Amino acid sequence: MRLFTACLVHESSGFSPIPTSLQNFRDGLLHRPSRGELVPLRLTAIECGLTTKGTARGHDIVESVGAAATPSGPLNKADYELLRDEIVSDLKKAMPVDAIGLFLHGAQLAEGYDDCEGDLLASLRAVAGPDIPIGVEFDLHGNITPQMMANSTVIIGCKEYPHIDFSERADELLDILEAAAAKRIRPVSAWRKLPMLGIFHTTRQPLRGLVDRISALEKTPGVLTITIAHGFPWADTPHAGSAIIVTTDNDEALAARLCDEIARAFFAMRNEIAAPLTTLDEAFSLVSSGGNGLTVIADTADNAGGGAASDSTYFLHELVKRRIENAAIGMIWDPMAVKFAFDAGVGATLPLRIGGKISPLSGVPFDAEVTVTALNPALWQTAFGYRQPLGQAAAVRIGDLDIVLSSVREQTHGPEAFSEMGIDLAAKRLVVVKSAQHFYATFNPLAERIIYAVAPGATSVDFTTFDYQRLSRPIWPLDQGVTID
Ligand SMILES: [Zn+2]
Repeated sequence: MRLFTACLVHESSGFSPIPTSLQNFRDGLLHRPSRGELVPLRLTAIECGLTTKGTARGHDIVESVGAAATPSGPLNKADYELLRDEIVSDLKKAMPVDAIGLFLHGAQLAEGYDDCEGDLLASLRAVAGPDIPIGVEFDLHGNITPQMMANSTVIIGCKEYPHIDFSERADELLDILEAAAAKRIRPVSAWRKLPMLGIFHTTRQPLRGLVDRISALEKTPGVLTITIAHGFPWADTPHAGSAIIVTTDNDEALAARLCDEIARAFFAMRNEIAAPLTTLDEAFSLVSSGGNGLTVIADTADNAGGGAASDSTYFLHELVKRRIENAAIGMIWDPMAVKFAFDAGVGATLPLRIGGKISPLSGVPFDAEVTVTALNPALWQTAFGYRQPLGQAAAVRIGDLDIVLSSVREQTHGPEAFSEMGIDLAAKRLVVVKSAQHFYATFNPLAERIIYAVAPGATSVDFTTFDYQRLSRPIWPLDQGVTID
């Protein structure tokens, strides 16, 4: 079949201190085939998965924009419209096509746009007409909207957090698009919003069980796909919140029944599955009571992967103040400190100001005499199973505390962020990572214990710390006595 593919991925936070322009996409991924601006090396293979998999299946692929940027604030209006209009223009030139396959986030905001994905899908549907199947792969942190549902044929969110299943979901989406384009199936969906905001780990029970259950339900005859969209809690729009989507082959009653059943089960477990609210003090007292193996503390509130700066210093100050032995922390985003370390050279000792620069949530800068232990012109880490480039990075040491400083703002996904800087985590007692959950996939095998901790930050799971203005209320956990019909 002739398949049109495009990717536009940005998770936008209403509380991020980082502004967003087209340059953020250039720094991440910006592949523009119709302009001849090609990314030669598909470093972010997830976003291009539909293109590469569709090509491998023998389809005639018309590839449009591939754009992805690290989470931050809403994209400026002109740059969003430029990217949207380029994808729409590419589709106009590509018509007629048999199907459209998109990789989008589901929680993208732009100046004047509360629902970028819904807006893009409506624009594409207007060009494609009512009959061409439009399939979308989403991050499970998408905030599902009526406009998204009305203008797509099927939406498939990843099932796992950490998101280890993007590749499987892309295959599933292609299977459905192939069958729908050939008119072997007629996808129909039931969906339901849930008044709940949160961060939910699929690695822990009881959510693990519910994810396994929906995977089993997908094998029921007539069921095509089921998504539990957790939602993105830092969006501050009326669309923020969780949702369930069930898509069947032309069986609206079955879709509605399963959607209702899963929605009730997910809502009922909300208090059990909410991410822990372990404070910084509690986290350190847990460390002191631990064994000899490696403890991982996740500094969840300063996660670049949710739009935070990744330069906060709360844990760094405490590691030094409490004289925690044999620890490491990373990655702290501080391009200026990285430059100073490169200028000073490996082995040099210098006074260095680290972090605390981007916003009040970053805390007080950390000043110390440090020794530069490693400089890496091209650090990388494993992210979602792929090799992710991180640019220049430096490691500095104070006593036996190792600190990794990055020039690219990115959450700590993989242990290479330390090992490629000469830091042996197997010999460490404690490592603090700036990530909410994606680190889990590769750090869990190394760790004796993982502690999810909450300091101040733009991705705090203590939602009472944010001045929400535009949410649909009431919503759990901000309001009391929230129920569903
Ligand atoms: Zn996500």
